[in-house]
Amino acid sequence: MQFAAFADQAATIEAEPADLEIITHVAILFEETESDADLERVARFVQGRVFPAWDSTKLDIGPRTCYEAIARAAGQNVSADDVETSVAERGDIGAVAASYEFGTQRGLGAFGGGAASSVDDLTVTDVYETLEAVASADGSGSHDTKVDLLFSLFNQCAPEEARYLARLVLSEMRIGVGEGTVRDAIASAFEVPADDVERALQVSNDYGDVAVVARTDGVAGLESLSLAVGRPVQAMLAQAGTAHDALEAWDLAAVEWKYDGARIQLHHDPDGETRIFSRNMEPVTDALPEVVEFAETISKPIILDGEVVAVDDAGDPLPFQAVLRRFRRKHDVAKTREAIEVRPKFFDCLHVDGEDLLETSLTERHARLERVLSRVDGGGEATSGQWLTDDPERIEAIDADALAAGHEGIMLKDPSSTYSPGRRGKRWLKRKPDVETLDCVVTGAEWGEGRRAKYFGTFLLSVRDGENYETIGKVATGITDEQLVELTELLEPHVRSESGKTIDLEPAVVFEVGYEEIQTSPTYSSGYALRFPRFIEVRSDSDDPDTLERVKRLSEQ
Ligand code: ATP
Repeated sequence: MQFAAFADQAATIEAEPADLEIITHVAILFEETESDADLERVARFVQGRVFPAWDSTKLDIGPRTCYEAIARAAGQNVSADDVETSVAERGDIGAVAASYEFGTQRGLGAFGGGAASSVDDLTVTDVYETLEAVASADGSGSHDTKVDLLFSLFNQCAPEEARYLARLVLSEMRIGVGEGTVRDAIASAFEVPADDVERALQVSNDYGDVAVVARTDGVAGLESLSLAVGRPVQAMLAQAGTAHDALEAWDLAAVEWKYDGARIQLHHDPDGETRIFSRNMEPVTDALPEVVEFAETISKPIILDGEVVAVDDAGDPLPFQAVLRRFRRKHDVAKTREAIEVRPKFFDCLHVDGEDLLETSLTERHARLERVLSRVDGGGEATSGQWLTDDPERIEAIDADALAAGHEGIMLKDPSSTYSPGRRGKRWLKRKPDVETLDCVVTGAEWGEGRRAKYFGTFLLSVRDGENYETIGKVATGITDEQLVELTELLEPHVRSESGKTIDLEPAVVFEVGYEEIQTSPTYSSGYALRFPRFIEVRSDSDDPDTLERVKRLSEQ
């Protein structure tokens, strides 16, 4: 395919405001691309990508290198500074590249790099192969080589080709084509269901490959695509959410500790290589030799998802910046290893021994993870725990344990959820410790039950509204047996009356209370209720609770 034909279609797509029409134009582009090799490239080029997402090959071209190549192709009167100034003015490298007349500089050190030689002949393959050569230029002199190669391409470009070449080179295609568009265009061009394309994209992480397979082998071909050990998939991501959200949505929540480190995806093949990738699918294998050593004791091919955490001499977690030092000191790993110990904590299992698990439930994947790691030394330690519960108090207790152990908090996950690469959905919720707390005066209590029957067990909380106290919730969570004894002693002198289990207290003792959210509610006289209130401590320095005014403000936030 001529690169001019690609540029032409890219211009049509860019000019099209309607999403559905864009999909149609991308589908036409795919249909008109004859060879499989070109289709693979075009499916990436439309997204401003040269290599597959899983491939760590990078063009590694800064804007300045691109400006130099454009300036050289534009002729003697144009400098890289001129190009830079124009980009600053116009805000688009494509428009600037398209404003010059190229092709007048042939013979001035242009070398082929697989590129053709006449202005009309530049093909998609030429562009790809030359950019591949750019990516592999390494070491001293590589800057000049890159400029030469890029110059050889720009020098063959008509203005419209230069526009899209420049944008491709700087990964700024900006023609309104995202991943969903390419998925739908593949489905439409080759008459396969979009869901099948979606699944194939998730496992292969390669738009080019999926487009070709959809065209040549249809649905059966797409179904046969699977995860490959050694080729990273995008990480599933989390949204912020509360325990209430979790239990309302799923009845039962899988609770895990949230480690404060760096995301890792481990690919291990006992008959091949062990490779580790970062959250952005960058290879980080060399920075984590102890994780590699651990992985090499696993006897099955696996893909695991987890977090690597830096620990101090006592094995307690260090802040995540410590892990980052590992990734930054690429050339001095042995030394950094001595200074900073890291440990993996795996929380998910995507593949075991030829079997893809993306579509199995979280609980099943976690069971597989436990099974695989239980067979290796230190495997238990490297497995993140997971607790299934529908009890908000249990969730609080797990959160408290995680915080006490020096971790960030907890993750709440839907036990039945499948693994959705690259998705930030509602199936994984990250819950961080509450930031705001509220000072509430205790205006009532209830006697406890069972072994707590001699003590107050639940406390009625109020805030001040002028001279009055208005109720806002009850707290029973976060209080140890010893604290209950102390709190009962502290509050008994303030009892005004008692009826059955319920005690009326004069407002004297103030609790600092954590919560997840404030909602409007008819249950309490303030008109608000605290969701998941949690006792933090008695405010010994103050008997002045927060006001209804502040509650209103917080609830609006
Ligand atoms: P992002 O959501 O963009 O990743 P972030 O990197 O700041 O943002 P958070 O949003 O706070 O992290 O939380 C999600 C991240 O938490 C995951 O990407 C992972 O690195 C980390 N994490 C730690 N423990 C777990 C766990 N048990 N399950 C899933 N993720 C975990």
